[in-house]
Amino acid sequence: MHYFDRIDGALHAEAVPLEALAEAAGTPAYVYSTATLTRHYGLFREAVEAHRASLGEALIAFAVKANSNLSVLATLARLGCGADTVSEGEIRRALKAGVPGERIVFSGVGKTDAELAFAIEAGVRQINVESAVELDRLIAVAAVKGAAPEIAIRVNPKIGAGGHARITTGGATDKFGVPAEEAPALYARAAASPHVTPVGLACHIGSQITTLEPLEGAFRALREMTLALRTQGLAVSRLDLGGGLGVPYHGQTDLPSIADYVGMAAGVLDGLEVEAVFEPGRLLAANAGVLLSRVIQVNARSDGRTFLVLDVGMNDLMRPALYDAFHDVVAVRERAGETGTYDLVGPICESTDVFARERRLPPLQAGDLVAFMGAGAYGAVLASEYNSRPLVPEVLVDGERWAVVRARPSYDEMWSREPRADWLG
Ligand SMILES: *Cc1c(COP(=O)(O)O)cnc(C)c1O
Repeated sequence: MHYFDRIDGALHAEAVPLEALAEAAGTPAYVYSTATLTRHYGLFREAVEAHRASLGEALIAFAVKANSNLSVLATLARLGCGADTVSEGEIRRALKAGVPGERIVFSGVGKTDAELAFAIEAGVRQINVESAVELDRLIAVAAVKGAAPEIAIRVNPKIGAGGHARITTGGATDKFGVPAEEAPALYARAAASPHVTPVGLACHIGSQITTLEPLEGAFRALREMTLALRTQGLAVSRLDLGGGLGVPYHGQTDLPSIADYVGMAAGVLDGLEVEAVFEPGRLLAANAGVLLSRVIQVNARSDGRTFLVLDVGMNDLMRPALYDAFHDVVAVRERAGETGTYDLVGPICESTDVFARERRLPPLQAGDLVAFMGAGAYGAVLASEYNSRPLVPEVLVDGERWAVVRARPSYDEMWSREPRADWLG
């Protein structure tokens, strides 16, 4: 569900024509829809409220790594959304965007001592501890500060899932979380320390998960472990269920809805009297963004292949090169005439700079605009300046209003970050 629709044959972001945005902001550019972000968060909030008896005062913490633009975060923060963060930079972004510390969760497999200290100072709601060695370091850092931060132990339930082998995190060989059989002893060890306050368990088994079964299996494992810890006299008041629910990149209509997902979680947690934490990233942001690009040229080769050479490269949108990800690509303006079959490629000097093979699209010409749909999550955040291409800008639309919320740097701005070594004169 999103608010990118055609009006008189031209694709709009809410009430703003994408053609006008391309003119004003240049291409390539990410365009985000406030109404879509608001709707997704609202559906999640509603589902959680409907199951308050089982989920308690649940926190919905947007996974900042999916889209960390300050205006996107501020849009969600104003609705009451929290933040799931994986670095000091992300905690700082969340705070700057207006997310209070008590709605920030700090996760991640390699937090430095400095980052742990910063999280304690920022008063984050919970630090998710991912290993025994990390617990020891956190205890040492907290002892110096005379603090006792609330923590959850991230359990690896040995259920990996997700849309691609490179985005599963809960499998037995994945680097994330504490093996399920070691987690109870670690929890007990944390409870014995005066410098941390274990409040719960966490899991996050992967991303772009399109069925509820693996998620339900992981949640059940957390439930079992909660009951086992309680029989040892240990308090468990919070379960962090991670993120990972998939979105319909292919226009699928059979994916679990937000209501199905939250309902399933409520069923598993029912009667436990815990507060739930949800960490959706992709689910809130993916369909709230498109990536606008202009056709540089149409290269119809004599071997029958036609390359649509776009002004967007894998440096701007890495998902296809990184995870073989699929994005629906549409012509911004409807064109009459016979559809063509195109290989969609960028200008980067890498053979992985290919977005799609043999796509059917209306007849396109140099200068035409296309939109990559579902590009609001893991898009702009993964962009780089590879090939010395200025970092792709971001635009936020709200009804008839729009604003450039990350500007494309000028070349001088790019060079200004690279002071010349003084001996080079
Ligand atoms: C990436 C991540 C998420 C969000 O995953 P999505 O698939 O985008 O929902 C949530 N929690 C943690 C710990 C993560 O690393």
